[in-house]
Amino acid sequence: MTNNTSKATALRTHTCGELNASHSGQTVTLSGWNDSKRNHGGVVFINLRDLYGVTQVVAAPDSPVFKAAEEAKSEYVLRVTGKVRPRPGANANKNMPTGEIEVEATEIELLNPALPLPFDLGEHAGVTEETRLKYRFLDLRRPRMAANLVLRSRLSQVVRNYLYNLGFNEVETPLLTRSTPEGARDFVVPSRNNPGEFYALPQSPQQFKQVLMMSGMDRYFQLARNFRDEELRSDRQPEHTQIDLEMSFVDEVDVARVVEGMMKDIFAFVGDEVSGPFPEMEFSDVMLKYGSDKPDLRYALEIRDCSDIFKASEFKVFSGAMADGGVVRAIKGEGAAVFSRGDMDKLTELVKKLGAKGLVWLRFKDGKWESPTLKFITDAEQAALKERLEVRDGDAVFIAADKAAVAAPCLGGLRNELIARLKPAKLRKLAFLWVRHFPLLEKDAESGAWTFTHNPFTAPLPEEAHKLDTDPGNIRSAQYDLVLNGVELGSGSVRNHSRAMQEKIFALMGYDKEQVQARFGMIVNAMDFGAPPHGGIGIGYDRLIGIICGTDSIRDVIAFPKTTSGACLMSDAPSKIDDRQLKELRLKITE
Ligand code: ASP
Repeated sequence: MTNNTSKATALRTHTCGELNASHSGQTVTLSGWNDSKRNHGGVVFINLRDLYGVTQVVAAPDSPVFKAAEEAKSEYVLRVTGKVRPRPGANANKNMPTGEIEVEATEIELLNPALPLPFDLGEHAGVTEETRLKYRFLDLRRPRMAANLVLRSRLSQVVRNYLYNLGFNEVETPLLTRSTPEGARDFVVPSRNNPGEFYALPQSPQQFKQVLMMSGMDRYFQLARNFRDEELRSDRQPEHTQIDLEMSFVDEVDVARVVEGMMKDIFAFVGDEVSGPFPEMEFSDVMLKYGSDKPDLRYALEIRDCSDIFKASEFKVFSGAMADGGVVRAIKGEGAAVFSRGDMDKLTELVKKLGAKGLVWLRFKDGKWESPTLKFITDAEQAALKERLEVRDGDAVFIAADKAAVAAPCLGGLRNELIARLKPAKLRKLAFLWVRHFPLLEKDAESGAWTFTHNPFTAPLPEEAHKLDTDPGNIRSAQYDLVLNGVELGSGSVRNHSRAMQEKIFALMGYDKEQVQARFGMIVNAMDFGAPPHGGIGIGYDRLIGIICGTDSIRDVIAFPKTTSGACLMSDAPSKIDDRQLKELRLKITE
């Protein structure tokens, strides 16, 4: 705001965040909330707050505004007119952007009172999240929360500018639609006009964005809302926002370069330098080396295969696992020799929860190994292990012997725990990684049938597509994930554009032609009429903003989030609907 808008009757001529010594002598009007009030020797000081900052307002005891100032309670909305004056040198507050000045009030108008607050808005006041969510309008007045939303808004502008400059078109896709399979449950909406029929809220705009490519739209994006009815955790919400994009006539690399450029602009906005191309790893390698498809590569810890070292081992744990077609893999914790027996028991529990039968651990202290299982490991094996993992005094080594599919996630989980406990040095602040070529299909744990690993529309790598008839479990796909600091930030792929290929994949998943037509008719029909090769990605926007704002909870970067049970405590959603509505929808609630 500038002086241009100033009139005697204006609700404000300036914001509470912009006055400095150069405004001294001017008469200004500010409007905002009574953030705090102090009475110093009869002089009342009010910190008046709006979105933009805080300004100190002074009411002298002999001034006509004194009474209004004294009566103002916490969060009263006030309009203050007065003269800007420099604060005497010693009173200037360097920590406050407006700390050079104060406003000597000549008029204070109460625009609206406020009830006593249910909680203190001070940043450090201990308040339960339930209370914060119930009174979200108060919670959002806290400068940190407001700053998160403002930054999010600015970053949306950065994203839009970047994509518009590359010729992307922002297209809205329907929210009332049909189910898209993204692996979660749908939220459904009954259709009054079509009794017994339901819309599904989109789990993502996947099919529509692909159809847009088939419409010739060439480059699409949307800050799209996705709805997934799944178990909630701190980084999940029933509705989340995704930077969703799709491009025609592209391969994996083309999509990657667009995304890297976008990350560069986003992080440049907050003062961080990011440059592409980002490192990339095959899915199989990343599982081998880090035991997770979203490793946090800010840290160096690596899993090493030790199967060869123990191939002649007489230790049943190792020989048994290998005889079963398994592997022996190990990870080193630098400085972890300080872990007690109790710590080791906890780590063992952790890997057991992840599926392992147990955990072999060895501490290397004062030039000697120590471990309850040391007697089963020969001197030569101990020496080879020391070399393989580059063990130094004070380190500990953790070994998993199991099927690769079990050993990998167990050691991956252990890697995270070691990072949390040992707090090793960070190699970098931002660790991006592309994980490429996930398997196209995997066996569904329940039904035993083939199912997609990420997205049923993902194309197989062309050179491996021939295995669809002979070895479908061993086909790598053109599916890629973007990982940042151990968080899966985005997921995308090059898609099938031929109906024959798409139907073949659906057939492996157990859908016959009629079922494909019934469930995915929209997209497969469009494939019949000249669908271009295309690919894209969806990037979790809430998670990205959460990382940038330095919060673990995406609820801190969403204006009106839901609790982990899917409730909005402010609006009281979800709620019952009345009988008349149920009747109109021809629905009956059964217990
Ligand atoms: N639809 C995918 C998802 O929501 C993203 C994509 O493949 O573009 O994860």
